[in-house]
Amino acid sequence: MKTPTQTNAIDFDSAKLQRLGFGQPSLLPRRPTTVPQLRQQLGMLLQTSLEPDRILAVFFREVQRLVPLDALHYRHQTSDLRLEFGHRGHHSVSYSLSHEGEHLGELIFRRNQRLLEEELGQLESLLSTLLYPMRNALLYRAATRSALRDPLTETGNRIAMDQTLQREIDMARRHMHPLSLLMLDIDHFKNINDTHGHAAGDSVLRAVAAAIKSQLRNVDMVFRFGGEEFLILLSNTGRDAAAMVGERLRKAAQAQDYWAEGTRIELTVSLGCSTLLAAESGESLLRRADSALYVAKREGRNRLAMAG
Ligand code: GH3
Ligand code: MG
Ligand code: MG
Repeated sequence: MKTPTQTNAIDFDSAKLQRLGFGQPSLLPRRPTTVPQLRQQLGMLLQTSLEPDRILAVFFREVQRLVPLDALHYRHQTSDLRLEFGHRGHHSVSYSLSHEGEHLGELIFRRNQRLLEEELGQLESLLSTLLYPMRNALLYRAATRSALRDPLTETGNRIAMDQTLQREIDMARRHMHPLSLLMLDIDHFKNINDTHGHAAGDSVLRAVAAAIKSQLRNVDMVFRFGGEEFLILLSNTGRDAAAMVGERLRKAAQAQDYWAEGTRIELTVSLGCSTLLAAESGESLLRRADSALYVAKREGRNRLAMAG
């Protein structure tokens, strides 16, 4: 006989979540607690997020039920992550988090009043609740970041570009700021591959990307668009300022040293520039930059052309 499967639905309604402390921001009541109780609650709370800043914000807030603090700083060099909660404090104590030989970052607790021996013991005991949540959050962060990056040139990939372009267009509209786009293409790149080989071509691509990034404040706005094409989004930048940035990039790419098998390679780039029009789509903005780039190529390369 077939036994019907029993389905248990557990409804975590908002009242229950609130009681468990999942709400924001007034979470758990400020009643006295013990280390074991707080460890248990942190164990639950910290696994509700995969974002390092959210995990640490919850930790910073909850830990203060036992140990009042003025600030918590966190650094993880490998993933280029720095987070700060609270303000400065005169006294500090730092802990290096690691798990099975894997470095998970450094935490610094700060307070104006000296931290007592007993409080340090409590902090240390609570720190272990961070281990798995932080390890998972760092892994997740690395995975999502690598899904959005071009590994060869260390620039954003197409997925990142699509996301960022839409976000920047929305922002530009909301704040009534200009937004410009540069499309940069290496001139006669095929010759470099043909003459010096694909590996030399790859290192030239990396060097061009580095030259571009060295000229920009926000390197997160550089994307590899095609084989030897890059896109640069310039937020809050109108047509004239974008033309100046474009010229700067052109000169920087030309000035960069490129070497293959001991010989210096001469290299130039061409650029097309477009500035967002009222009610224009991202697709259209891209198309106009591409047409301008085509004009720059046709007019002799090693130049910048502005979209009409
Ligand atoms: P133009 O001045 O008109 O832009 O000429 P070009 O030779 O730069 O342009 P074309 O589109 O003819 O050739 C682009 C070349 O880029 C062809 C392709 O083999 C090469 N390429 C694309 N992706 C990569 C890559 O990842 N590494 C290397 N080494 N070459 C690549
Ligand atoms: Mg091309
Ligand atoms: Mg080219």
